[in-house]
Amino acid sequence: MPHKHNPQPAPPPDKHLVAALLRWFRANARDLPWRPHPLGTPRDPYPVLVSELMLQQTQVSRVIDRFDAFLARFPTVEALAEADEQAVLTLWSGLGYYRRARLLHAAARTIVTEYAGSFPATATTLAALPGIGRYTAGAIASLAFLERTPAVDANVLRVMLRIQGRSLTTANPQAIALGWSRAQALHAAAPRSRPTPALLNEALIELGAVICTPRSPRCESCPIADSCRARAKGTQSRIPAKKPPPVRTPIYFASVLIHNARNRLAVTSRPDTGLWAGLSQAPTVERTDRPSTPAEIRRKLGLPPGRGSLRRVTRFDFKTTHRECHFEVFAAPPPANPPSTWSFLTPARIANLPLSSPQRRILLETAQP
Ligand code: SF4
Repeated sequence: MPHKHNPQPAPPPDKHLVAALLRWFRANARDLPWRPHPLGTPRDPYPVLVSELMLQQTQVSRVIDRFDAFLARFPTVEALAEADEQAVLTLWSGLGYYRRARLLHAAARTIVTEYAGSFPATATTLAALPGIGRYTAGAIASLAFLERTPAVDANVLRVMLRIQGRSLTTANPQAIALGWSRAQALHAAAPRSRPTPALLNEALIELGAVICTPRSPRCESCPIADSCRARAKGTQSRIPAKKPPPVRTPIYFASVLIHNARNRLAVTSRPDTGLWAGLSQAPTVERTDRPSTPAEIRRKLGLPPGRGSLRRVTRFDFKTTHRECHFEVFAAPPPANPPSTWSFLTPARIANLPLSSPQRRILLETAQP
């Protein structure tokens, strides 16, 4: 007796998927500070660049808090290009991943010096600028210049893998190639109207952010559920496949709160490269093999000798993508001749410095009585 196949019905064509997605987006788009009215209106490329770089690896709610303040301080690409790096890093405080702030600054400088302040208008030329990867280039080209080009961020990649029913990790080159080619096919199937490239990319990003979420996707409310192979097979929760957990190497910090006679606190800058490059911190000793001993801390920071001169205040741990950071916080009287690289500042001045999250905690919370 011949074996009976029970094939899945073929998903509807992409035209249908795109129409359903755009309908859903027009009715449900969240009101975000960088989103234009009406939807699909070409945007100024500069705010797109700022919001896209801020949004990488950062929650929307956090970016909403920072976006307006950043644009108020640096309203144009020229203003950003002329700014001092410390001022840019300060406004970036709290968003983390400061490398993005430096790349944004470098991109602004290149746009001003090499393009006379006018953004290049295609994804290909944009991608040649420092800090502008393939996704950001696609986002600016489509949202600002309405180029028919995909913009595949982590949200969109997840949606593409699920509609194709492919259980790959998002770091897999095959997954990335599939995400871009599938998104490109959706653009090819989309209506030819002018704002469609912007609407389609934003709709895909929005779907990934609010419906096709990493955990527990809301398939029952999904406008493209009938085109989704993962839903048909019930494999949504296994797509994308999990990455192996990151291997974090330990690093041991000893940060010392040092008040001078006027009750100002010592602050110094981190080196220009490596973790939290160029950000401010309390005088700090660090090593990767074990915590520093009190004698080492006193010697390296030039603190007065003697057991009583270094008092342990607290300790806490902090994880970055690649590091397991162990912080010990001490208090000490100032050395007779503080190094010229230290500044003694009030809390108000410190609050305006670019600080990593742990140093914000140390200098602005732990240090205050
Ligand atoms: S049906 Fe579910 S898994 Fe498929 S795209 Fe929609 S939300 Fe994502």
